[in-house]
Amino acid sequence: MLQRKLNIANLKTPIYKLESLSQSLGKDIYIKRDDYTGTEISGNKVRKLEYTIQYVLDHGYDTIITTGAITSNHARATAAVCAQYNIECHLILRGTMAEYEGNLFLATMSGAHVHLIEPIASREEAMDTLYIELEEGGKTPFKIPAGGSDWIGAHGYIDAYEEILEQEIAMEIQFDSINFAVGSGGTYAGLWFGKTSNNLATQIIGYAVNKNAETFKNKVIEIIKDLDNDTTSFETILINDEYIGLGYSQATDEELQFYIDIAQQEGIILDPTYTGKAFRGLVEEIKQGHYDDQQSILFIHTGGLQGYTQEIRTRIQQLLLENA
Ligand SMILES: *Cc1c(COP(=O)(O)O)cnc(C)c1O
Repeated sequence: MLQRKLNIANLKTPIYKLESLSQSLGKDIYIKRDDYTGTEISGNKVRKLEYTIQYVLDHGYDTIITTGAITSNHARATAAVCAQYNIECHLILRGTMAEYEGNLFLATMSGAHVHLIEPIASREEAMDTLYIELEEGGKTPFKIPAGGSDWIGAHGYIDAYEEILEQEIAMEIQFDSINFAVGSGGTYAGLWFGKTSNNLATQIIGYAVNKNAETFKNKVIEIIKDLDNDTTSFETILINDEYIGLGYSQATDEELQFYIDIAQQEGIILDPTYTGKAFRGLVEEIKQGHYDDQQSILFIHTGGLQGYTQEIRTRIQQLLLENA
């Protein structure tokens, strides 16, 4: 286990009860605001980056290469942390500069070098090619995988599990489950590893936003084995892939209407790529009776507000007009 990390996230993040939704669902629904970890570095990625960037500094790297979607929260957070620590930052993103808003805008403003690739191109190959180029140019680069999801980054969510345990004691609650979105698996791996190391019954339930449950389960197992090769029992890894909908960063009108309803009912803005899908999944599963054996349910808001693109904002405006 790694011991050293930066302290750049605003921790602990608060947990509070969603009163109106708890009442309508007949459960005690709590939310943990990991979207409050910061502004430039907001969301779940900064918990991972605290460990990753410490590792980079400790090992003498001067340049980072990472990758993601054009709307990547991880890329934006990495760009901001690199600016803060004077590390050269290269982002390999799938998409075009026409989508110059949200995270892409923030990442370039923070000084990141953006390398665009075709939607079908391999991100790993592009990272390898750039790695060689930068090395030949005299740099000492370090590659962070998409989403910062590897054994180093997962430490951030092992810590988050410990933080939740402390908050449970202080609040005199025991959560029957901890629920959140899964996009590259690092958050899941950390929380599951934290829970399993503490030998507790709390279920760790991930809602996939892009790939199927099997793919994520394998990814999570891979990360956990890198953390501790002695872990051999993985039955309690629970990933639900029934709420991906139209796919990564795509939204149906029904989903958008759900986000509007939650915003107006609870004052919480879910993001359209991750937390929206996961939270909608949780509410649907509760309604279908799949949480009947649970009373206290925690949802982690992992951030992502910058994912509201022009296209989605316009559609929400339309829905609001239709509702009026
Ligand atoms: C990346 C991300 C997730 C998913 O976390 P992973 O560790 O990649 O599975 C969830 N929510 C938001 C807002 C994210 O940016």
